[in-house]
Amino acid sequence: MHIFHIATELAPIAKVGGLADVLYGLSRELVRSGHQVEILIPKYDSIDFSRLKQLKVEMREVACIEGTQEIHNSVWSAELDGLRVLLLEPHHPLYYFGRGKIYGCEDDIERFTYFCTAALEYLMKRGSFPDILHLHDWPTALVAPLCKEIYNPLGLKTEAVMLTIHNLEYQSKCHPQKIARIGLRGENPLIREKMQDQTLQGTINILKGGIEYADFVTTVSPSYEKEIKTVAGGAGLDGVLVKHQKKLKGILNGIDADFWNPEKDPLLIKRYKTDGLRSSADLKQVHEGKRENRKQLRTHFGLKEENAPLVASVTRLSKQKGPELILYTLNRTVKKGGQFVLLGSDHGSIIEKQFLDLQGLDKRVGISIDSDEALAHLIFAAADMLIIPSRYEPCGLTQMIALRYGTIPLVRRTGGLADTVFDIDTSDLPKEQRNGFNFDFYDTGGIDWVLDRAFECWTKERAKWEQLMLNGARKDFSWKEPARAYVDLYHSLLGKKAKAA
Ligand code: ADP
Repeated sequence: MHIFHIATELAPIAKVGGLADVLYGLSRELVRSGHQVEILIPKYDSIDFSRLKQLKVEMREVACIEGTQEIHNSVWSAELDGLRVLLLEPHHPLYYFGRGKIYGCEDDIERFTYFCTAALEYLMKRGSFPDILHLHDWPTALVAPLCKEIYNPLGLKTEAVMLTIHNLEYQSKCHPQKIARIGLRGENPLIREKMQDQTLQGTINILKGGIEYADFVTTVSPSYEKEIKTVAGGAGLDGVLVKHQKKLKGILNGIDADFWNPEKDPLLIKRYKTDGLRSSADLKQVHEGKRENRKQLRTHFGLKEENAPLVASVTRLSKQKGPELILYTLNRTVKKGGQFVLLGSDHGSIIEKQFLDLQGLDKRVGISIDSDEALAHLIFAAADMLIIPSRYEPCGLTQMIALRYGTIPLVRRTGGLADTVFDIDTSDLPKEQRNGFNFDFYDTGGIDWVLDRAFECWTKERAKWEQLMLNGARKDFSWKEPARAYVDLYHSLLGKKAKAA
């Protein structure tokens, strides 16, 4: 099967968050199981080109209409860890992808609607079409209506269009004129009905358009699928998702088992093995490995060497991730005699300064406001506990990464966190499947509940702590199962088309 992803992130060359990891991990697993996969992303100037092999121009003069202008694009091809990557470079007077960042420009809607139409112009010019077009979140959701309304009638032959919702909060709303610029007649009542925002009359909701037009919609965990069909979790689109629930499915994300493997991780000071651990004796080299990485992390942040638990947070500092509760956890950790390290990205939030003011506190607090892949790996390996108190969490990858690195997650039971972390004391699952600490309500009482129990366990119940580490390492969070679920879905979509023909 030939799968063509149109996306805006790809790890590790163009990464903001988990979307990048998903594109990388899912695609690699699909390739491993014999499928043909291509990934098209914008050619951002911020891409780490050193990771790409055989970078060359694949096609020039891909013409694209935006408003009254005809703009030309080049499409580059390259290889990344066995993946075929395509990079779209617009020769655009506004340097859409030459801004030093992926998101966060005032004209993000123009930048990514342009990318959607240029991606389809490229496929048209190339003339060889994939079986499945797979889209990701609002920035590429517009490909679905573009395909159905414009490019399929013009001869673009693809069997099915799938949209994955990685985060429903980001929808992008705009005046119909903005999509008319790339040829979608937003004022046409039929198109408008499908793409119009649920509450704002005369406003286009791009993600909603993608949901309406896609042949199938997935999201990134079974619990999040349930949550987004409710008023509380639907971000205004619950009605649309309920209407389309027959073509909606939650598939739990995985993590790339090679990229996130402490035995092979080139970014660690000392490597250690967590695959196939059976007993406390097997944990000896895990403890040694973690100790060496912890030493390095403490040196990095100027923390003291002491026998105290190290709690960490590796996160975007957006509201979704619960920054106030992360700050509360930091203070409480220090009060209880522990150490705390934060690696937080998303510059400009007010809370950032409050964190920075605590850097170096009592030689027990390390703060880095940055996006730093190498430091993230070191923290996952060095920490004893990872705190994730999210308001909502579509899937969440850091809890799975933590478990693979022998670090115990303390998480709020929501979305994908509820599907992956099971409380040592209160879960209904058998004891050997319990792997962390959960709390339910978004408040400081929840943090007290998990932190106090985790400290108690770490200090006084070492056998129980080691059992948690073993249970966490035993669970396979790789892409094997999820990729199989995606392939089954792709096949069912192809089957449906064949039956209809
Ligand atoms: P989200 O996609 O909502 O940000 P996920 O948990 O799904 O959250 O994925 C986060 C990914 O981004 C993980 O690979 C994590 O290691 C990485 N990450 C998060 N914050 C940072 C940071 N400040 N620096 C480096 N990597 C980060």
